[in-house]
Amino acid sequence: MENTAALEFRPVEFTGSCLCGGVRFNGRGLRDVVYCHCRQCRAGHGAIAAYAATQSSSFILTQQDSLNWYSASAGIRRGFCAKCGSNLFWQRLEGATISIAAGAIQQKTKLHAARHIYVADKAPYDEISDDLPQFEGSMYV
Ligand SMILES: [Zn+2]
Repeated sequence: MENTAALEFRPVEFTGSCLCGGVRFNGRGLRDVVYCHCRQCRAGHGAIAAYAATQSSSFILTQQDSLNWYSASAGIRRGFCAKCGSNLFWQRLEGATISIAAGAIQQKTKLHAARHIYVADKAPYDEISDDLPQFEGSMYV
């Protein structure tokens, strides 16, 4: 059931923004989309979260007037727009990557769904109906 192989970064140029445009970013290299069912993502996003990711070193914030960070657990921060409320980023402070909410990325056709994580925390009303690999917890096991 679990394919623990690390997801690779596709050589894709991307741009994105929050709903109001107060936060804008671009970068190169996108990891495929991971659906996260954890309680924190469900509470923060209103439903499961869909995150692509990129290397922090190739990620550029071109506008961050309304960017705010919230830490729901030690060593991790979540980026959101304080004006329009868009959930945008998930970042491990010591990590080399930044996860980016798929809905904020402009290049929709370059995104591919990869896997589900934290399915052990899945809400009962949330039914997974695809054949993507499922991880009980983090994909880093
Ligand atoms: Zn905004």
